Amino acid sequence: MPVKYDLIVIGGGHNGLVTAAYLARKGLKVLVLERRDVLGGACVTEEVWPGYKVSTAAYVNSLLRPEIIRDLELKRHGFEMLPRSPSSFTPFPDGRSLLLGPDKAMTHREVSKFSAKDADALPKYEAMLERVADFLEPTLTMTPPNPWSLRPANLLQLGRLGLGFLRLGHDGQKAVEILAGAATPILDRWFESEQLKVTLATDAIIGAMASPSMPGTAYVLFHHVMGECDGVRGVWGYVRGGMGGISNAIASAAREQGAEVRTGAEVVKILVKHGAAQGVVLRDGSEIHSTRVASSADANVTFLKLMSNGDLPADFVEAVRHIDYSSASCKINIALSELPDFTAVPGTAPGPQHRGTIHISPTMEYIERAYDDAKYGRPSQHPIIEATIPSVLDDTLAPPGKYVMSMFTQYFPYRLAPGLSLEAEKEKYADRCFDLMNEYAPNFKRSVVARQVLAPADIEQRFGLTGGNIMQGVMSLSSLSFMRPVPGYADYRTPVRNLYLCGAATHPGGGVMGACGYNAAREIARDAKR
Ligand SMILES: Cc1cc2nc3c(=O)[nH]c(=O)nc-3n(C[C@H](O)[C@H](O)[C@H](O)COP(=O)(O)OP(=O)(O)OC[C@H]3O[C@@H](n4cnc5c(N)ncnc54)[C@H](O)[C@@H]3O)c2cc1C
Repeated sequence: MPVKYDLIVIGGGHNGLVTAAYLARKGLKVLVLERRDVLGGACVTEEVWPGYKVSTAAYVNSLLRPEIIRDLELKRHGFEMLPRSPSSFTPFPDGRSLLLGPDKAMTHREVSKFSAKDADALPKYEAMLERVADFLEPTLTMTPPNPWSLRPANLLQLGRLGLGFLRLGHDGQKAVEILAGAATPILDRWFESEQLKVTLATDAIIGAMASPSMPGTAYVLFHHVMGECDGVRGVWGYVRGGMGGISNAIASAAREQGAEVRTGAEVVKILVKHGAAQGVVLRDGSEIHSTRVASSADANVTFLKLMSNGDLPADFVEAVRHIDYSSASCKINIALSELPDFTAVPGTAPGPQHRGTIHISPTMEYIERAYDDAKYGRPSQHPIIEATIPSVLDDTLAPPGKYVMSMFTQYFPYRLAPGLSLEAEKEKYADRCFDLMNEYAPNFKRSVVARQVLAPADIEQRFGLTGGNIMQGVMSLSSLSFMRPVPGYADYRTPVRNLYLCGAATHPGGGVMGACGYNAAREIARDAKR
């Protein structure tokens, strides 16, 4: 008799693994099927060149929920954070530079170089974000209420949210602006120095096909301050062994609880009979049966690629077709023979300038112009770079004396203007990124040993992320909370009985948070108990 599982999880990204681990802990017989030969999805470490281990997609962590780290005992399974201090370094064309946090005295000194007023305002701005985070953060691990349902539990949850909002007092207006507004006006109101604003503004556009002056970017900015590193709020860190260290630790916890995890196992079809999921079909044609199926692939892949049209209501299919997957993020992974020797802070020995995120985008107008190109389908002439060199803090990633660098860059649009070829544009764009870095660190280009350029189309193909959208769908207000992935289906269930979503396509969205997988596990456990 073939084995029948209680639950098949499609996709061994970190969220799918979280769902698997929690439900295996509850005693369910769980099978995870991952298409690639490596686990982790976009939270992965890959040895791209012999001896060089690269976080090929996600590169820093802060968002992973502390309750998951605790419940699954991830530290015992090898998960280790490497906090960064300073957390960022921004060199400017005039030879000056700005280092930021978490050391508050250092940050005050650094910001004072540009504006004493801003140095005093920054802690107040952070405190305001924290107050709003206190309201929003608990919602991350809640199933969003359904405002179209009058069930008492829903009304109660909506009431509690309303009360939490009222408790914000005048910060309530700020919370609304953060949820719906643009980053630039907020930064303009708080700060006067271009240098501080532009350093903070890059968080507002990460993964977004938008410039900071566009509505929706304030939330992206905020999304990036909602986590913590070893208990310190808003601090981002590296993970020992690269981001795959997170996924591998979760996989190890899941296996320990009895979950079976297979790689190189691509699902090509979700089996549906009489309106209920029954299992899956793999690329090799084999069928595997289960009582329930949870997909951590995005909504487009799950519903439009792995299911037959007749399995789903037409209006649901239409809503999925309208999900916005636009993207202009291009990841460049690099092997380096030596560290960048910045004109602003000279030296190739590891220093504070190498530890955190290196921001290359001199002014707010520069970002706007970079986006203007992408708007018309052209990769930016003058791109924006967020570079990290995790091997400065982690000697497991590169051969002795060598380094790996992640360059998260924007804007390289998924949809290129007619006549532009992906392969040619990609290399020209990467060359421009390297020229730009070289302007600030003149030894950079000669230190490059190898590079891997992942444009949105490559991100789509490699990680299965539609449109190359790094969040499994944009993180704008109309696609958040009870509207994620589509209105009416934010409780991790789908129109097909016993079929669930458990990845970043669901609330609270993208980022290495694990919250989507955690919430989905809770809902699946509830149904299984019934
Ligand atoms: C370039 C890039 C940089 C990023 N940087 C950061 C960062 O620094 N910090 C951060 O917090 N977040 C970052 N993110 C976002 C974050 O990585 C993702 O939101 C998160 O990893 C999504 O996790 P997931 O488990 O929900 O989905 P995914 O990681 O997308 O996992 C889904 C899995 O399903 C598998 N799959 C798909 N289809 C099938 C199928 N048919 N059969 C079997 N398996 C299938 C895929 O191969 C994949 O492994 C970044 C993302 C990218 C792409």
